[in-house]
Amino acid sequence: MAWTRFGKKKDMPGGLWIKCESCGAMLFRKEFEQRHRVCATCGYHFTLPARDRIALTADEGTFAEMWPELCAYDVLEFNDRVPYGEKLVATRKKTGENDAMVTGTCTIKGIPCALGVMNFTFLGGSMGMVVGEKIALLCEHAAEKGLPVVLFACSGGARMHEGAVSLMQMAKTCGALTRLHRAGVVSISVMTHPTTGGVTASFASVCDLLLAEPGALIGFAGPRVIATTIKKELPKGFQRSEFLLEKGQIDRIVARAQMRDELARLLAYATGRDPVAAFKPAPVPADAAEPVAVAAEAAGKKPKKKAKKDG
Ligand SMILES: [Zn+2]
Repeated sequence: MAWTRFGKKKDMPGGLWIKCESCGAMLFRKEFEQRHRVCATCGYHFTLPARDRIALTADEGTFAEMWPELCAYDVLEFNDRVPYGEKLVATRKKTGENDAMVTGTCTIKGIPCALGVMNFTFLGGSMGMVVGEKIALLCEHAAEKGLPVVLFACSGGARMHEGAVSLMQMAKTCGALTRLHRAGVVSISVMTHPTTGGVTASFASVCDLLLAEPGALIGFAGPRVIATTIKKELPKGFQRSEFLLEKGQIDRIVARAQMRDELARLLAYATGRDPVAAFKPAPVPADAAEPVAVAAEAAGKKPKKKAKKDG
């Protein structure tokens, strides 16, 4: 079974080495995790699990999760080989998360904010009823408390298993952000690899400030679909952060190592604080080892024991 072998090799959850999707370099997994999943050779930013992102962004011990109990249900009795209801149960068990979005409050370099992070490992970070509801609740809470909102997007798009209910979340999240804007509270979107479909076409693109990680794929339809439809060759770098910055769709590209500093600086501006005081460059956090453990745990990685060959 060549396919199974290929799939296994590509994921290599327990492997010591990982192959860079961009440049093909072999990366030592421990070092790769310490660099928060950024390729040491080409700087390619791999997808980061939600809990690792929170550990990297929020001040230690300040993240207070909200609405973790929200669970989706199979409103359409949708069956895609496996019934959606069963798929949800299995995915919850596999990922330890109830859906594709983690929300809560925290401080970033001492500045209080509301934080929402998408989790790609949960059904491709697809947006369904729970993702939409959590964003709406977060915006309502933030408006009430006057907290700036930071949303990290990482998604394959709308969750097809929920049909129109999932598409409705596009309008719902945009409405919630509009009300937040009218309340005079700032919102910042960070688009990470990949941000596609209904997520790009809704909340990820309508925040006050639009940031992106380097090299992230950001778009609505995939490049192959577009190329086939318009029957034209697409320009180089199409749908990547750098291309979108050049075209004016995003405001700034921020590398993962600088993201926390940059967010703190922008949040300071937005909340009338001294941005210089909030901006103390710290390229690699000293606690870099901590998210490694979280990532290993999230990936269900078991510590590799050396087999004793005593006889
Ligand atoms: Zn690379």
